[in-house]
Amino acid sequence: DAPAESHAFQAEVSRLLHLMVHSVYSNKDIFLRELVSNAADACEKLRWRAIAEPALIGDGERFEIVIEADPAARRLTIADNGIGMDRDELVANLGTIARSGTKAFLDELSDGAQPSNLIGQFGVGFYSAFMVAARVRVTSRKAGSAEAWTWTSDGRGRFEIEPAALPGAPAHGTRVVLELLEDAATYAEEATIERIVREYSAHIPVPIAFATAGEAERKALTDGSALWVKPKSEITKEEYAEFYGNVSGQWDQPALTLHYKAEGRHEYSVLVFVPSMKPFDLFDPARKGRVKLYVRRVFISDEVEILPAWARFVRGVVDSEDLPLNISREMLQKNPVLEAIGKNVTTKVLTEIGKLADTDKDSFEKVWGAFGPVIKEGLYEDPERRDDIFKIARFKTTRSGDGWRSLADYVKDLKENQTRIYYVTADTAERAAASPHLEGFRKRDVEVLLLSDPVDAFWVRSALGYEGKPFQSITQGAADLDAIPEPAKPEADKADEAPAADVAALVAHLKTVLEAEVADVRPSARLDESPACLVAPDFGPDKQFEKIIARHQG
Ligand code: ADP
Ligand code: MG
Repeated sequence: DAPAESHAFQAEVSRLLHLMVHSVYSNKDIFLRELVSNAADACEKLRWRAIAEPALIGDGERFEIVIEADPAARRLTIADNGIGMDRDELVANLGTIARSGTKAFLDELSDGAQPSNLIGQFGVGFYSAFMVAARVRVTSRKAGSAEAWTWTSDGRGRFEIEPAALPGAPAHGTRVVLELLEDAATYAEEATIERIVREYSAHIPVPIAFATAGEAERKALTDGSALWVKPKSEITKEEYAEFYGNVSGQWDQPALTLHYKAEGRHEYSVLVFVPSMKPFDLFDPARKGRVKLYVRRVFISDEVEILPAWARFVRGVVDSEDLPLNISREMLQKNPVLEAIGKNVTTKVLTEIGKLADTDKDSFEKVWGAFGPVIKEGLYEDPERRDDIFKIARFKTTRSGDGWRSLADYVKDLKENQTRIYYVTADTAERAAASPHLEGFRKRDVEVLLLSDPVDAFWVRSALGYEGKPFQSITQGAADLDAIPEPAKPEADKADEAPAADVAALVAHLKTVLEAEVADVRPSARLDESPACLVAPDFGPDKQFEKIIARHQG
């Protein structure tokens, strides 16, 4: 036999494993959800592949996951008859982390962030097995291959790969064997396994059975039926939350659950969620969505962009009755059926978020706080959605205090003669609120939007306005404040005011002195306490926008 080859883990994996082994995460039960979900993914991948290549699976073969416990040996095995991995896939999939954003995530962890939260978000995956196992052995045979391979590691920097003797290997699929740590012996007990499967994996779409080592009898733990085809009235909140956990890989509670069946021109079921916590890769440049596409209960892909990129925080499942099962990935791009579904789901998501604002303000503010910066990308990417997004958009303003203000609130409270919606952009709302340009607005009690998300500088320039009121930067051009009446001043203040002729003389003088530096000098109503401020010209980029552009070019 060929000797075992030894490989070093990718540096990120070693760092992650170190965290697992030293188990910063107190809830170790979650490792089982991760391994079961990998097993289910593998079955679903093969189910789809076998539509085009039926020879890959046996006649009448039924996909399943078997969890086998051997308490005497302190051993737990998770076996599936899914697609399996060949040698190279074992090395790549169980030696590196392919998911984008991983490095940023780990860097954040080393910066002393609250690890349990972050790991919770990360979805710890296969490597979480090392929270409970001293040694992990993965034997796998790729569907259609005549070889099987075994991957072994104690999680301390290296792993071994060697050919597996075929008789013991699955016909196709994967066996993950955990040699449990002494203090994790409970994971070889039937009662523990049953409890965890009920809690975390009760509705994954592949059936799960339990077996005790050495006994032929199997006990079905779940039936593998798809939760989304069940009637809403039969599903509990807990079941939805558990399904959400599996489909999102997150550990928070969903802020919104949308479950419906469409039966018009296209027939499909939708079960999607809005999380309450930001997924760690939300601002990843790839801007990938994670809604899974099924066709008549068969998983097709989680790589198709069903929803627009600005809705990439939505998690869940879309199951079409109309698309052909053997649809190719290419045919899924720009597919009219999918586009129609995507539009419909997007509308529903926006409507439900809007309703949440009325029914549960706290949850709504959590959702807007977490995903508002992403949703606002839609304001310039998706002009036809602009009005819908404006309806749910909330802003920090000079009047919002600890809360938020909507554009409807803003417009309702316009001052006499006010024709524009004023805003100021800065890196943070606090910094925006400290802008000297605000003085004249404060004095007149004119509300100003304090925009501090990077996307704000973009949409605010392309949006034409809201209800006929254009957006106007307070650091740009003439502020047009003169028409808005000032509240009456106490007599003492009026005595301080300079005569108009003196102001004109000063402006003329400054123009000469600053000729080389500035395009214009003018008296302004926007200041109260400060003597002067810089503003950008009426046309062209404003200051914050210039900064962002400079950063991108820098
Ligand atoms: P993720 O599931 O988020 O991709 P994991 O760490 O859980 O991350 O798994 C890494 C990869 O290893 C999977 O994407 C898959 O390609 C492979 N893998 C893990 N378990 C199995 C399995 N039981 N069968 C086939 N492939 C698997
Ligand atoms: Mg996984």
